[in-house]
Amino acid sequence: MKFAIVEGCRQEATPASRGKCPNCGAGVIAKCGTKKLWHWAHSSVRNCDHWWEPEKAWHRAWKNEFPVPWQEVRCVASDGELHIADIKTASGMVVEFQHSNISVIERASRERFYGNMVWLVDGTRLKKDLPQFQATIRSARAIKDAPLSLLMHDRANQLVERWAGSRCPVFIDFGGARPELPLITDDEVLWRLQYARGTNKVVATPVSRSSFVAYFRNDGRLRGYRLPRLRADPMHSPLRGFETHMRRKASRKRRF
Ligand SMILES: [Zn+2]
Repeated sequence: MKFAIVEGCRQEATPASRGKCPNCGAGVIAKCGTKKLWHWAHSSVRNCDHWWEPEKAWHRAWKNEFPVPWQEVRCVASDGELHIADIKTASGMVVEFQHSNISVIERASRERFYGNMVWLVDGTRLKKDLPQFQATIRSARAIKDAPLSLLMHDRANQLVERWAGSRCPVFIDFGGARPELPLITDDEVLWRLQYARGTNKVVATPVSRSSFVAYFRNDGRLRGYRLPRLRADPMHSPLRGFETHMRRKASRKRRF
């Protein structure tokens, strides 16, 4: 945990300090070593929130993109169940940062518990995920060109399959990896996956990382991309699906 309650205030861990868990009220101690991020840990039980995963630098960096009062927010269901949301915005939207693997059952129960939520997934955990995802991009069909949206099968690659059936949008963070598309961007790109209920279809949309932050800070729109005209650009490999889409569009136009 990044925050504990010390003398009535939310505070970050400092060496040799003690506080109370904001979730269950039990005693927590500051862990301020050199290997892990400085954090708070329960002094007796492992962790009162069984959904909690050990916090990595990746989690902490993402949390820090948002205002402090929105970080690690205690949420209580009507039946008394308690969990700490990584981010809960002023408008009640929950953003969960997920590094480790999560079972389908746990994922579904979190989606039910929070309702209004999105996932932000660390796409760098497994080395094979990025090359597999890029191979899928190369063969995916573009169903929209502004913003660019690609259609995928929910078993197109292992990462997409792991999140299949998700009811909430899933954003994948591949770190600084460039998508294999001639997108004009200086910003990092996240991939939004939206699984169509009751089908095997997933719509994948690249979005700008900074617009993701701005959007959830209620400070802007989520920005997608438009591909430049490909035929005029021999530097980039052709996108089979996208070109087919453009050809179909062109032939439709010719009919009128
Ligand atoms: Zn606790």
